[in-house]
Amino acid sequence: MNEFELIRTFFASQGSARDDVAVSIGDDAAVVNVPPGMQQVLTTDVLVAGTHFLAEGDPVGIGHKALAVNLSDLAAMGATPKWFTLNLCLPEVNTSWLQGFCRGLFGLASQWNVSLVGGDTVRGPLTIGIQACGVVPTGKAMLRSGAKAGDRIYVTGTLGDAGVALLHQRGTLPLAAADFATVQSRLNSPIPRVSEGLALRDFASSCIDISDGLLSDLTHIATASTVGARIMLERLPVSTVYHTYFEQLGRWDTAITAGDDYELCFTIPGPRQTDFEQLSAKWQCGATYIGDIETESGVRVVDRLGVDHKPNTGGYEHFTAD
Ligand code: ADP
Ligand code: MG
Repeated sequence: MNEFELIRTFFASQGSARDDVAVSIGDDAAVVNVPPGMQQVLTTDVLVAGTHFLAEGDPVGIGHKALAVNLSDLAAMGATPKWFTLNLCLPEVNTSWLQGFCRGLFGLASQWNVSLVGGDTVRGPLTIGIQACGVVPTGKAMLRSGAKAGDRIYVTGTLGDAGVALLHQRGTLPLAAADFATVQSRLNSPIPRVSEGLALRDFASSCIDISDGLLSDLTHIATASTVGARIMLERLPVSTVYHTYFEQLGRWDTAITAGDDYELCFTIPGPRQTDFEQLSAKWQCGATYIGDIETESGVRVVDRLGVDHKPNTGGYEHFTAD
């Protein structure tokens, strides 16, 4: 199978169900219609075998995750996802791998009605680059820079589950089979919080998706907003599986330092809190108040007695080394 047959078989046939795509796969570039009054929001992420995923891992999960991480970035901006392009670097044409990859990729794409409109296909070490494009009403994108002292800090879902799965995969923390099955999907097929991101546009003063760990990503909000943050340890939402291994995970340390969760972390100004909590009570993933924005710079973690907590990441050098 040559390059053109490969594109035709796996990608051109799946391209563009959206009617705002004027020119899809097959020309030198795609042409899309942007609705009046909207801005385009563009993001890209590259996943490299051996660094971001295991080459021998399940191709369905790899296809899903490659798009999910991009949709998560659009969610954090409050954008409606619309189109994406796919750069594939493949060591060989392995049709069963490609079929699995497409199942994961297009399964998620159809869930959010995002269309593949182009890409590039080359030979080399297994690498997947996706660029995703969404739209927001002009001026309405959620930025990292809008947090103000007094705003409340929230996160969606639970923290640290992907990190727990990674510890198991690396042989550091053996989990019971059922527990691993539960957290494995958090690592391999994260759910981008697209609808939550859209709803947050009317409430949040800042937003980021958690790809590098809560502390690291919240520091980006604090720096961009020239404020500080205080996180209350005992409020952090963790899963039942996480609770089972709580001490081995360094209590909350994995939850605040491990990456790959793809939950949203955002700030809500005081006057919007009641309305926001009414809304988020209906979210399946939930949203938890975990701390407050303060004027003093830096991100602090305190326990319920107000004592400063320094996460001991020394025992988890696989994260800091990444
Ligand atoms: P060019 O040489 O002009 O860049 P290509 O031969 O690389 O064009 O690609 C032909 C068409 O196939 C283009 O429309 C391109 O966007 C599309 N395409 C190539 N690879 C992929 C891919 N992996 N996924 C989706 N579309 C692709
Ligand atoms: Mg090309």
